[in-house]
Amino acid sequence: MVAAETDWPRTIAHADMDAFYAAIEQLDDPSLRGRPVLVGPRGGRGVVLTASYEARPFRVGSAMPMAKARRLCPTAIIVPPRFERYKDVSRTIMNVFSDFSPTIEAISLDEAFIDLTGTSLLLGNYYDVGRKLKEAVREATGGLTVSVGISSTKHVAKVASAFQKPDGLTIVKHGEAKVWLAPLPVSRLWGVGPKTEARLHERRLYTIGDVASCNPDWLTRELGNVGQHLYSLANGQDARAVEGRKRSRSIASERTLERDVYDKADIERHLKRAADDVAKRLRGKGFVAFGVTVKLKTREFKVLSRQHRRQQPTDVAEELYNDAALILDKFECRGPFRLVGLGVYDLIARNEISQMDLFSSGGQRRKLEVAIDSLKERFGSDVVRRGDDIESGYEPPNLDFLSGDDDFDDA
Ligand SMILES: [Mg+2]
Repeated sequence: MVAAETDWPRTIAHADMDAFYAAIEQLDDPSLRGRPVLVGPRGGRGVVLTASYEARPFRVGSAMPMAKARRLCPTAIIVPPRFERYKDVSRTIMNVFSDFSPTIEAISLDEAFIDLTGTSLLLGNYYDVGRKLKEAVREATGGLTVSVGISSTKHVAKVASAFQKPDGLTIVKHGEAKVWLAPLPVSRLWGVGPKTEARLHERRLYTIGDVASCNPDWLTRELGNVGQHLYSLANGQDARAVEGRKRSRSIASERTLERDVYDKADIERHLKRAADDVAKRLRGKGFVAFGVTVKLKTREFKVLSRQHRRQQPTDVAEELYNDAALILDKFECRGPFRLVGLGVYDLIARNEISQMDLFSSGGQRRKLEVAIDSLKERFGSDVVRRGDDIESGYEPPNLDFLSGDDDFDDA
């Protein structure tokens, strides 16, 4: 394998940590090593977040109800999740990835695309680059393994990283993607979860090759836009670029007020409005936040801010507002203020933690807010207002509508 490989139009690596949460627990507690470990809540209705590789022969896996997992693997050690620690390790590995390219796109705590196109690394060959990446992760984390796929599209890199887990390294050459994908089951297509898999099976499409060779017009009629998308992926086509740092790491809503506010109730009203705005944008982007911050600007243009870290992340306006109201008490300065803002930071993709029962407290409230989101989408942002806004004659601002991500299944 020599340098001639650089004639690929793009070179994209996908790196995915192996059994991330469970591997961290085994790293931190040597007594867990070599034993089946399930990371997840010990009691209640929770599900398994990650199963260590020792647990997998018992057919235990992520998203399985914990009660069932315990039945299948009675010897498993159940460890409650430590998201703070996982996020620390996540920062470490993302920094390692950044050493390989300025353009990395994290898609969860333990997974990222790395755009290697045009990097000097490619003066070596792809196997060398992949091995260096794996070694750098192992060294920086004190022993964790990562599986890496390298190809000329995001989709094939993603499928390739899962191909030889754990500790895998799979290179799929440009021009060979379609042939390489063909024998794999349709469930390996990125975005195909159990629902779409069943729809494909109903149509006698079992392998990616079956999808690649069917009539695309028929598939689109059967499945809608998803059909068109899957047909392209199955044929090795995927024009999506690695979107370096596209995703915001914080979201804030703040505004300079027409008249300064002094009264606590006035400040709280502005925080409520900001919480609605921020929560909606979080939901639109598929994030939940651990950190909440309140920002105030005095009449003298002095910026003050205080923050609060939540035990559990949220995208519910009511919860953000409750935090903000508590934060407000931490300010010594009582105003008047010319700007009131609420922001969130330490964001994490909602699908990372949604399997866990983290939303139980905000569950009903969240449903209500999501329903309001969709009403606003359809009828404009004035259609639903808070009862207390209307009472006070407060006119809500026009909210900008952010589109969600393009995931179309529960994969
Ligand atoms: Mg992983």
